[in-house]
Amino acid sequence: MLNDKIALVTGATRGIGRAIALELGRQGATVIGTATTQDGADRISGFLAEAEIKGKGVVLNVTDVAQTDAALADLAKEFGAITILVNNAGITRDNLTMRMGDDEWDAVIDTNLKAVFRLSRGVMRGMMKARKGRIVNISSTAGIRMTFFGSLDYTVSKHGVAGLNQHLAWELADSNITVNTVCPGGVQTPLMESATTPEYREMTVKRLVPLGRFTKIEEIGEMVSFLA
Ligand code: NDP
Repeated sequence: MLNDKIALVTGATRGIGRAIALELGRQGATVIGTATTQDGADRISGFLAEAEIKGKGVVLNVTDVAQTDAALADLAKEFGAITILVNNAGITRDNLTMRMGDDEWDAVIDTNLKAVFRLSRGVMRGMMKARKGRIVNISSTAGIRMTFFGSLDYTVSKHGVAGLNQHLAWELADSNITVNTVCPGGVQTPLMESATTPEYREMTVKRLVPLGRFTKIEEIGEMVSFLA
């Protein structure tokens, strides 16, 4: 059970992040879920309350340095040390490499990699003082190998998370902080739908997934909860 734990889940408005927030809450954690808009934060507060989970939604664009620092300071005051960080927020900006704009590259690296560094750094001190902590990153099979054409930025960002994980796991182990990364294959979420065609999804499931189906968001929630 995660009763005395304070969990911060980035990108909890929908998809995988929402499922993770709900599962950590079911296991007893107080859950803070982030959204890029006030409407999203209110929706998170709503579904947490409906499930009788302690916590709330907050506005946090993980690419915004000042907002990140301010949000972490506010949360520390209100809830105490964050002892579970789930770096879930992620985006795609797919394009063939020769057409990929710097803006696409920067957006993906900032959201999927740089923010993981910044948030991990931001919660580390509190975890060290508490002598306990769990950092769980949501990467992708694209963080292990190349998955599909047009996703150089995404593949590089997720491979970066693998390196960050390796480094931090060693650096923080003595403080009783574990760092793990979950690498899902296909999960049917709005991100997956916006990045692929129905034909591609059908082909992927048939040819690459032994179970013949996408992973369910709840299954990712359970895996993250185990690691936490
Ligand atoms: P969705 O598009 O369904 O949800 C993305 C979430 O990230 C939303 O809550 C969104 O918030 C948030 N987000 C996006 N940009 C920012 C930002 N700048 N700051 C803060 N939050 C932000 O994505 P998924 O649930 O599919 O993906 C979640 C994670 O899982 C990602 O890291 C993705 O790479 C990974 N993944 C997904 C797979 C899949 O098949 N779906 C497979 C493998 C990995 P808002 O609603 O406010 O925009």
